[in-house]
Amino acid sequence: MRAELKSALEEAGRDSGEIEIIAVSKTHSADFIRPLLIAGHRVFGENRIQEAAAKWPALRDDFDDVVLHLIGPLQSNKAKEAVALFDVIETLDRPKIARVLAAEMEKQDKHPALLVQVNTGEEPQKAGILPAEADAFIAQCRDEFSLSLAGVMCIPPVDEPPAPHFALLAKIAERNDLETISMGMSHDYAIAAQMGATHVRVGSAIFGPRGTP
Ligand SMILES: *Cc1c(COP(=O)(O)O)cnc(C)c1O
Repeated sequence: MRAELKSALEEAGRDSGEIEIIAVSKTHSADFIRPLLIAGHRVFGENRIQEAAAKWPALRDDFDDVVLHLIGPLQSNKAKEAVALFDVIETLDRPKIARVLAAEMEKQDKHPALLVQVNTGEEPQKAGILPAEADAFIAQCRDEFSLSLAGVMCIPPVDEPPAPHFALLAKIAERNDLETISMGMSHDYAIAAQMGATHVRVGSAIFGPRGTP
């Protein structure tokens, strides 16, 4: 998939060094993850804190430069564990989480990079701040909670073309001075890469299909 990503980037006049592949290892055991680590890959994504806490500390004993992204929903009672375990938290999406993350980061003196998740499709069942509220929320994170934000992420609706969602997210990033743009999954990472993604989150195209959890 790296070759396909490279050609998509080239088409868009971007350099392959401009994009990071987050290998989404959710549901896969350490035995499946280890070969990728041995091959040199270091950036991984998990969507459940419990599962990540069970797998990653042992893997990190052997590969201490791993960069772990939380890409799944975050409850405030899990903020402590999330700050301790992850290097990047991609799912900051409401004031309550911003408040507890700010407090935990200070307490642990550990500062994972933070991305604001935007619910670009305005889907009721999906996490993320609504696009119309994104600017105000980003300002609130900065002003009220003194958080330094790294970027934005989105998960477009499964049944819609992703491009308008990627364009919307890139626009929100640009007007709020945010560098990191996490968008694109196995079926649409090439489009995301052409539309300004700095990170693509790729699971099944790397690891193969996931079993039912
Ligand atoms: C599972 C997941 C992915 C990866 O999905 P694939 O289709 O397997 O590439 C990306 N982002 C998020 C938020 C996920 O939960």
